[in-house]
Amino acid sequence: MIESTPRVASVEEIVAELRRRSAFVMVSHVKPDGDTLGAGLALGLALKRIGKRVVYFQQDGVPRNLRFLPEAQLVTRDLPADLPVDTLYVFCDMSDWRRAGEHLPPVARENMLDIDHHLGNSLFGKLNFVLESECSTGTVVMHLLRGLGVPVDAQIATCILATIMTDTGGFMHSNTTPEALELAAELMRKGADKEEITREIFLRKRVAATKLLGRIIDAMRFEHGGRYCYSHVDDAMLEKTGADGEDTEDVVNVLLGQEGVDVAALFKAIEGEIRVSLRSGGRINVQAVAQRLGGGGHFRASGLTYVGTLEEAFSAVEAALIVEGL
Ligand code: AMP
Ligand code: MN
Ligand code: MN
Repeated sequence: MIESTPRVASVEEIVAELRRRSAFVMVSHVKPDGDTLGAGLALGLALKRIGKRVVYFQQDGVPRNLRFLPEAQLVTRDLPADLPVDTLYVFCDMSDWRRAGEHLPPVARENMLDIDHHLGNSLFGKLNFVLESECSTGTVVMHLLRGLGVPVDAQIATCILATIMTDTGGFMHSNTTPEALELAAELMRKGADKEEITREIFLRKRVAATKLLGRIIDAMRFEHGGRYCYSHVDDAMLEKTGADGEDTEDVVNVLLGQEGVDVAALFKAIEGEIRVSLRSGGRINVQAVAQRLGGGGHFRASGLTYVGTLEEAFSAVEAALIVEGL
């Protein structure tokens, strides 16, 4: 059999595949955010409405600030033993299936559906529905909900709005298109709880998180004439403040917000792993920077995991930034 080059499938092809299968595992990426979870929950809810069996897989568990999402309590790292052999695994919001984590049992390509909006998605699925111009994976899922003809109820609407607000930073990032705002309005009319999303994802902070923010700000360094700001967080800082890794998620945006800064990095040396979050004001492509070091993401927001010491990570990221025009 001749393998054809992977391509992006049409809504009709995906909808036909969804109708053909009886059971689904919605797979979200490690250290989940509101997009990967919200997109999977929205599609999962819609599939249940048409009588399908749906399981939600997540290796790391649901972070505190996303537990309000409908069905979040059903998310598990342990898959049931009785799933049919033709169960479709739906990977949401990841350019590569490996981002689901090592706890996911092996899945045949035949049973992989890839739904995403990242640049440079590896088109790893049997079917791939990747729309790079969409602001979130949830808005990619919206095309499928329309194709399926499942009505968007308040629960589904809340999940999709959570994906939009997560990936646009509460309608602040440059991916906040008129279409995204129109869809957000439509979702609010269908009952999406914008107040709850705002409160849970953006406003409510643990005191420990605010104390940790203080330490990360104290550790900020500025290089390249102040255009590059970076800082770090390690286990000792978490211990001193009583915070944990979940409390670090949006801190990198504070670094990017400092006057004169073009590009920011937060290095998280937690539990033996160094995860780096990169953000750009628009001049430098941090997706390209992350990709040089084995990571990925978007033009203005990307990430990677670095193997080595913190000092080595600082040097490697700075070197990659320089190659990309810092
Ligand atoms: P974060 O800084 O963790 O919020 O991630 C920002 C963006 O980069 C998101 O779109 C992530 O999906 C992506 N990203 C983060 N870490 C990685 C990684 N190790 N590999 C590929 N993409 C990543
Ligand atoms: Mn994500
Ligand atoms: Mn996303």
